[in-house]
Amino acid sequence: MRVSRFGAAIGAATALALALTACGSDTEKTEAKTVAQKAKETKKITVGVKYDQPALGLKKPDGTFEGFDVDVAKYIAKELGVPESGVTFKETRSENRESFIGGGQVDLVIATYSITDARKKQVTFGGPYYVAQQDTMVRADDNKIKKPEDLKGKKLCKAAGSNSFRRVTEGPPDGKLGIKGVNLVDASSYSECTAKLGTGALDAVSTDDLILAGFANQQKGKFKVINSPISEEKYGVGIKKGDTETCEAVNKAVTKMYQDGTAKTLLEKHFAGTGLQFKTTAPPAEGCA
Ligand code: GLU
Repeated sequence: MRVSRFGAAIGAATALALALTACGSDTEKTEAKTVAQKAKETKKITVGVKYDQPALGLKKPDGTFEGFDVDVAKYIAKELGVPESGVTFKETRSENRESFIGGGQVDLVIATYSITDARKKQVTFGGPYYVAQQDTMVRADDNKIKKPEDLKGKKLCKAAGSNSFRRVTEGPPDGKLGIKGVNLVDASSYSECTAKLGTGALDAVSTDDLILAGFANQQKGKFKVINSPISEEKYGVGIKKGDTETCEAVNKAVTKMYQDGTAKTLLEKHFAGTGLQFKTTAPPAEGCA
């Protein structure tokens, strides 16, 4: 009886000691590892992309993914040591990008994600890997909205978690024009904005020219982009705040993607024929603050 109790006590102590050791080393490892280190070791990475934006991030019925952001993600992953088969895509919507990065649901976000002052407080941004321009899309037969100022009194889409509506209705730093009297209509995504524009539930969708080009081209003849740019949208790669090692590795990959001609090839692959005037020169690099 006594022996067995003693034995049990030793057993428990040993188990506890082992558990503590395991726990300590595990914690140390997890905390020390950056996304770049993890990618190199495991040959795996999870990237947050949009699932509903044609030419950028689109999940196809067969379960595969296509678009400029998807291809940029594969390129960056490869440069981080991860083959295409090791890339897992996870849907990020405009409204959950920060929480998915912060909570570790994704390692990187490559999802038409503008670098803004407010977001920089929560996220470290690699890139920019492209500088889009915000423009406005209306129904093809609309002759009233020709410039952003014409949006006064009109119904404009407000996609949850996106910054684009702010460029129209608010002032700097994250807004731009500060136009008063615009009626914002809620939507969960730009695909919903586009659907609502089609039905007449709203009058305009103002967001990045790449996004608008993708939708306008997907539903040919239905919509037109007014070609009256509002702002420069620097597309960043979202990384957990403070992971500068990964940010620097991402920036190296982006530089290489322009130098070796891949960026141009990918932009042509996805946007040639959409009517969009895209830029194929490397955007000015930014530091990894
Ligand atoms: N680039 C803009 C933004 O990050 C609009 C597109 C989006 O929300 O994905 O807010």
